Amino acid sequence: MFAQPSTARTIPTKPAAQYRTLRPSLGPPRSPPPITNLRPRANNPSGPKLPGPVRRMSFGISREQFSAVLSGATTNRRPVDGELLAVENSVTNRISAGCVVALNVDTQELPRTRKQKLVISSSYLNNGISRNRWATKFEGAQLLTGTLPTSWITGPAVVNAFYAPTLNSISFPAAILQPPFLGSEYPDYWNFGAVGMVIGHEITHGFDDRGSQFGADGSFSNWWDPQSRANFRERADGLVYQYGNYTLMGQQLNGVLTQGENIADNGGMKEAFYGYKNYIAAGRNGTSQDRLPGLSYTPEQLFFLANAQVWCSDFRPTDLANQIRTGAHSPGRFRVIGPMQNFDEFSKAYSCPLGSYMNPVQKNPVW
Ligand SMILES: [Zn+2]
Repeated sequence: MFAQPSTARTIPTKPAAQYRTLRPSLGPPRSPPPITNLRPRANNPSGPKLPGPVRRMSFGISREQFSAVLSGATTNRRPVDGELLAVENSVTNRISAGCVVALNVDTQELPRTRKQKLVISSSYLNNGISRNRWATKFEGAQLLTGTLPTSWITGPAVVNAFYAPTLNSISFPAAILQPPFLGSEYPDYWNFGAVGMVIGHEITHGFDDRGSQFGADGSFSNWWDPQSRANFRERADGLVYQYGNYTLMGQQLNGVLTQGENIADNGGMKEAFYGYKNYIAAGRNGTSQDRLPGLSYTPEQLFFLANAQVWCSDFRPTDLANQIRTGAHSPGRFRVIGPMQNFDEFSKAYSCPLGSYMNPVQKNPVW
């Protein structure tokens, strides 16, 4: 899983005026949109089409590029011959397909929803009860019928992204394919730095401490040779140590608990950056690589700024403290700092001297 934000600030003792006066207003119940409008363009010319930047990124973050990142980081630690390629093909080939499914999700579920009579009214409580009844029946039925390969673990309006090890698939609900993650008029470096990093993050989950225990077919199986596994563990321990030494609000991060997400953050940034570079080198850029007006940053610097902006957020101190103790994700501040400290290309882009805070001598990239 990808999303969650960070950074603490003092919270007021009273809610702000606009929240004190806020009252829910549901209005009349609305009908769901016609199913035909949700079908992908391939089946329905009037339906939505895959956003242009996503189509372009599916080239940039390609199987070949991801393979290069993996093989570059796996010297002397390659898994059993053939297995790596199988997993890699299986995961990365779903990048473009996953986006199509994102727009198609309701065509799978809406007919079933209607058949099982999901009752929608103006009562929030009744809607919650109705939804839970429907979900219980729906999920119970799946125990008998099995899960459709095209089924989703969340709805299309969720701003998040997912990797499912048992399906070996990455999922991008429609809601994350919009600003600030993705904009059709955004420069490519910005799209690659934001949603491109998310795509890389989800791919890398297939090779983190948990995902790496599942084979290409989603089965729980060991496809690693012992030396590869030992080397992976050693590198992951470096990341555990690095993140375990970050502190926020006087608390140390839990490097063990967050290692899977940290591995994905580090790999995702690297894959997106090289994907962007490959994309530009191949002359495939469909929009401008111009610098932003009034700013002197280079495209590479803006790639990292876009990446960091994804994590710009706010937290109540109590929630942040709870997240540090129990969350699988590092606070946003360290989802920015950690991967950038480990990535030579960041230091190069911002001319950070070797040995400075953002360019430490000891780097811990797992992939
Ligand atoms: Zn994740």
